Amino acid sequence: MQIANNTVVSFHYKLEEVGGDYREDSSDGDPVLYLHGHRGVLPGLEDAMKGKVAGDTFTVQVSPEEAYGLRNEEAMQRVPIKHLVGGKKPAVGELVMVNTETRKINATVVKVGRHTVDVDTNHPLAGKGLKFDIEVVDVREATMEEVAHRHAHGPGGHQH
Ligand code: ZN
Repeated sequence: MQIANNTVVSFHYKLEEVGGDYREDSSDGDPVLYLHGHRGVLPGLEDAMKGKVAGDTFTVQVSPEEAYGLRNEEAMQRVPIKHLVGGKKPAVGELVMVNTETRKINATVVKVGRHTVDVDTNHPLAGKGLKFDIEVVDVREATMEEVAHRHAHGPGGHQH
């Protein structure tokens, strides 16, 4: 069966940041499961999956726009340390959560002062090109329930 809208795809991937050090590898765990056609994976990856069948392996390079988006330089903020979840002084490079009036946001610490920290609230992979090595493990028809929920069910997907 070919990957098309409303098929459920399970796959293994190796992810490499283009020109950087970030790596992910799914091969230690279950394959990842997603419902095709509902943006369950990055747009650039989903587009490359179309038409593939179980057993196919391929490499796709995804631009920042088709991955986690471009960096927003206005996403840098100075916040009081007491507004960080945990309230402790972090180190440069540390990932922290910032309490805002309405929600918690993830951020990376870029500078630490006495009472404040400068944080970058861009996604850590914003502005990065990504290279994926993909192995399609299985392709099946989605159930009506999965289509209604707009995600895949089972190990590697949503479990509820
Ligand atoms: Zn569901």
